[in-house]
Parts: sequence; structure tokens; C-alpha cells
Amino acid sequence: MITVDAALRLVLEQATPLAPARVPLGHALGCVLADDVASDLDSPPWDKSMVDGYAIRVADLATGTAELEILEEIVAGAVPTRSVVPGATTRIMTGAPLPPGSEAVVMVERAELLDERRVRLADKPPRPGQNILVRGSSFRRGERIIPRDTLLGPVHIGLLCEVGCAEPVVRPRPRVAILSTGNELVSAAETPRPGQIRNSNGPMLAALTSKVNATPIELGVARDELADLRRRIAAGLESDLLVLSGGVSAGVLDLVPSVLAELGVAQIFHKVNLKPGKPIWFGSREAAGHRTLVFGLPGNPVSSLVGFELFVRPAIERRAGRSTAPHSIVRALIDNGPFTQRGDRTTYYPATCDSAAHGGAARLSVRLLPWQGSADLRTLAAANALVVFPAGERTYATGDEVDALLL
Ligand code: AMP
Ligand code: MG
Repeated sequence: MITVDAALRLVLEQATPLAPARVPLGHALGCVLADDVASDLDSPPWDKSMVDGYAIRVADLATGTAELEILEEIVAGAVPTRSVVPGATTRIMTGAPLPPGSEAVVMVERAELLDERRVRLADKPPRPGQNILVRGSSFRRGERIIPRDTLLGPVHIGLLCEVGCAEPVVRPRPRVAILSTGNELVSAAETPRPGQIRNSNGPMLAALTSKVNATPIELGVARDELADLRRRIAAGLESDLLVLSGGVSAGVLDLVPSVLAELGVAQIFHKVNLKPGKPIWFGSREAAGHRTLVFGLPGNPVSSLVGFELFVRPAIERRAGRSTAPHSIVRALIDNGPFTQRGDRTTYYPATCDSAAHGGAARLSVRLLPWQGSADLRTLAAANALVVFPAGERTYATGDEVDALLL
């Protein structure tokens, strides 16, 4: 059986980035830029005032006071119509373009209006350029402002607006089809009859997908029968990834691998040496230039969650063009030993991870939660990490160091 690391390598090999596409700026948050973006203008686009005040020639205020004639007033959105000449000034608002002839701006707080057309200024003799931001001092037209491969955050969205990029070219959000399988499954709104349980995985996997900034496409529940599975899986193969839950173990109704094979999905691995989630299935299909990665996660909710965190999330991120590390793994000290771990598989064990003071130094600590196994989703609700226990038997004491994968 292959290891988690080997399986992850196989997944990442298949997880090619999606072809770039233009999207409206309002849809670009969280996407990766696929092309450099250059500015179509200088910033600022003109010499602009950084304060509300009076644009003057510096010689007029050489003594620190002056009475000047007001030529005009320039509000935001307006442009100057007159040059500032000796003995005159133009009233100007923050951000407005400087009139020709002016060399500095005196803040409005240093001005006393004498009448409609006259003002007295009293300030230190100004230096040329005072309170002025020179055209192009942030960047120049044609300059590269955001390099390709940047993950776009809110500030990038603002910057793209400033430089006139209304439809950036990005890696599109991966479309992730989600299909739960199982005759026993009913929806959250239903009351399960004997033998039935509610479908936790479908909505949970959709929520996990949204959180990775991908688009979930919920395909409902497939019955454990060939025709229904074929029909719904075929629909799911239209997406960039298809995530199934259930039906990949060794039971008589575990039909998913055979239907996937029938529909042309090449198996890359089935079963990984991990707990929970060993029966996980992974494959890929390429048809008419479109690649779909297919994950069959075991049906127990915690197995599904762990399979998603270990393999599906990194695959989505790579297809979205992100080059971040597949997992955030930290070293942390066990807080509530002794804890005995045994088994022949790498185990991902729910825990809470906090920063805490250990002997004066700030360190991360993990508290193992009282977990009942792969059907116990409730305990996972409190967890923010999975402690990674290597295969084998060992008793861990309080203060022992372990790896923890942050959720
Ligand atoms: P399977 O992987 O199909 O053998 O399912 C393993 C266990 O997980 C069984 O107890 C199923 O009832 C349960 N299970 C399967 N699918 C889901 C689901 N969507 N939500 C919650 N539990 C599930
Ligand atoms: Mg099943």
C-alpha cells in the first residue's frame, strides 16, 4: 500500500493548472493572476495636492506671511484654468491637480480668509514641492504593477482598478462536483428511518470546497446501483474535479471504482496507508482536452474530511494555479500525555493546537481530543489540527514533540 507522501506526489503530478480566462474584477478575489498587469497611466496621474489648502509660489511666502489674491477653487474632479502668478493663489482640495506656476501648497489650517477673493497665509517659508505628490511618483504608465502568479487579495483588486484592468486574466476557480453515494443516505431535513443516516458528507465537502475558493457543484446522492452511479458520475466528469464519498471500500455495494473504470477514468491509486481513510481512490480522465481529477473518499465523515485535507485541497489549489505548500504542518508539544498510539498506518488524530508558553519560550502545543473514530464528526468540530502519528506503537508523554497538520 502506498504512503501518504507517495500518494500526494501522484495527485500533484495530475493537478495541472486550469487554462487562463478573463474574469470581471468582481470575480477575481482569491484567484491567481495568469499574466503580468501593467498600468495604463501614471500614478498619481498629475502633480497633486496632498492636503486641502492654497497653491502658491514659494517666493510669496519667503517672510512667512502673505496676503494673496484667490484666483479660483479646484475641487476633486475639476482641473485648473489659471496659472498661479506672484501675489496670487489657488484654493485646492486634496487630490486635485496643481495649477501651473504653483510650487507648494500651504495647508488650509494656516490660512485666514479675508474676503471672497483674499486670503492671509502664515506658515514657515515653504520648500518647493511641499504637500505635493509628483506625477508618476508611485508608478509610471507601462510599468508592471502586479506580476503573474500573484494570489489576488483585496488590495490587488483595488490596484487592478487603479491601473485600468477591469477584466484580469486569471486561473479560473476550479469547478468541483460533489457526489455522495449510499442507499442509506437521506438529507438533513429528513428523519432517517431504520437503517438510514443523514448525508453529512455532501454539504461538508461543498463547504470545504467553497473555503478553498473553488466552486462546488452538488450532484446529490447516488444509489448504490450501476445505472444511477453511471448517470451521476458522467455528469460529474464535466467538472475539473469530481469528489465522491462512499462506495470505495470492499463491500458488496462498493461499486464506485468499477463505474469509474467503465467511464474511462484511469485509476492512479486505490488505498493509502493512513488512518482514517485507507480505502481512498484516485484517478484522472482526459477527454477532448479536458482533464478531470477524481477522488473517491471513504464514506465515514472523518475519513472524507481527512481525505479532502490531505489530497483534494492541494489538488484544487494546484489547479487554481497556487504554488503554496500542500499542507501547513507545524511542530508542537503534546499537552495531555501520556497517549499511546498503535497501528500499522500513519494516523491523523484530531487535536486543538494553540501557542502556549513552555519554560519561558512561546511554543505550539497540541491537546489530543477524546475521539471515537472515523464516524465521530462531532469531535472534529472542536479540532483545528490533526496530529500526525507515524505507524508503529509508541507512548507519548506530555511535552513530546509531534507534527500537526493545521486545518
Ligand atoms: P462506505 O464508504 O460507503 O462503505 O461508507 C462507510 C460508512 O460511512 C457507512 O457507515 C456509511 O453509512 C457512512 N457514510 C457513507 N456516506 C456518508 C455520507 N454521505 N454522510 C455520512 N455518512 C456516510
Ligand atoms: Mg456505501
